Amino acid sequence: AKAEGRNTYQIYNETMDAESRRRATVLASLRKAMDRGEFRLVYQPRMALADGRITGAEALLRWHSSELGEISPQVFIPLAEESGLILQIGEWVLGEALATLKRWRSHGLTETSVAVNVSVLQLLRSNLPDVLRNLIQDLGVPANRIELEVTESMVMQNAEQTTHVLNELRKLGITLAIDDFGTGYSSLVYLKRLPIDTLKIDKEFIGDLTRDPDDEAITATVITMGHSLGLNVIAEGVESEQQLSYLREQGCDEIQGFWLSPPLDAHRCLAFIRTWQPGAVA
Ligand code: C2E
Ligand code: CA
Ligand code: CA
Ligand code: CA
Repeated sequence: AKAEGRNTYQIYNETMDAESRRRATVLASLRKAMDRGEFRLVYQPRMALADGRITGAEALLRWHSSELGEISPQVFIPLAEESGLILQIGEWVLGEALATLKRWRSHGLTETSVAVNVSVLQLLRSNLPDVLRNLIQDLGVPANRIELEVTESMVMQNAEQTTHVLNELRKLGITLAIDDFGTGYSSLVYLKRLPIDTLKIDKEFIGDLTRDPDDEAITATVITMGHSLGLNVIAEGVESEQQLSYLREQGCDEIQGFWLSPPLDAHRCLAFIRTWQPGAVA
C-alpha cells in the first residue's frame, strides 16, 4: 500500500502540468518578495475630459523577483489572493501610495488624487477602515484625495459582507470605484445600494471602440447609466485619439491609458503632472 501511494504521488508529480509547477515556483518566490524589498509602485495618470486636467493617478504594483525576473501582476496578484499574501502586500501598497500622495502634495499637487487597487480579501479579512484611518492620521493626507478601486465581480459576489466595510471607508471620506466594470455579473440593485462614487469601464470594451458597434453600445450605456446614478465614469485602456473622441462625445468624465501616459515611477509621474498642459487636449 505504501509503494502504491508513492506511485500515485509520482504519477501525479510527473503529469502535473507545466503551468501548475510554474505557479508553485512563483508562489515560493512571492513569499520572500516582501522581505527582500522586491515590490515597487508605478502610477498612471488620469485626465478629466471636460477641461483636460490631470485629476489623479492609479497606483499599480510591480514585482521584480531576484530569482525569476519581472513578473506581471496578472500572474502574481491571483496567487497573492489565493495564498492570503495579498493582505500583507496590500497593506504595503496602501502605505507606499499614501506616502507618495503626501510627497506630491508637498510639491504643490494638492488637487491630485491617488487611486489604489484593493482585493476583496482585504475588504473581508483585514481591518481596512482602521488601517486607512491610521495612515491618514499619521501622514496627514486628506481622505478625499484617496480612491479605492475594487473589482466588480468580486464586490458583487460578496455584496452583503462588503457593504458594511465600504460604508465605513466612505465615512472616512475616501471615495470608492468599481473596477473592470462590465466584465462581472452586475446587479443593478447592488450598484444602486453600494456606497460608490466611480465606475471604471474595463479596457476590454475600450480597445475596439469605433470598430465594434457592440462595444460602443455597451460603453455608451454604462456612461448614461453611471450618470443617472450620480456616478463619475472613467474609461481605462484608452490608446487612440478616436477612442478619446468617442468617449468625449458620449460624455465620459475621465480617461486613463497609453494615449495619455503609461504607468510611471512616482518621480516621473510627478514631473508629468506638473508639466502637463490641459489646453492642448481640452
Ligand atoms: P487594472 O486595475 O484593471 O489596471 C489596468 C491595467 O491596464 C494595468 O495593468 C495597466 O498597466 C494596464 N494599462 C494601462 N493603460 C493601458 C492601455 O492603454 N492599454 C492596455 N492594453 N493596458 C493598459 P497591470 O499594471 O499589469 O495590472 C493588472 C491588474 O493587476 C490590475 O488591473 C489590477 O487588477 C491588478 N493590480 C495591480 N496592482 C495592484 C495592487 O496594488 N493591488 C491589487 N489588489 N491588484 C493590483
Ligand atoms: Ca484598477
Ligand atoms: Ca481592468
Ligand atoms: Ca451612490
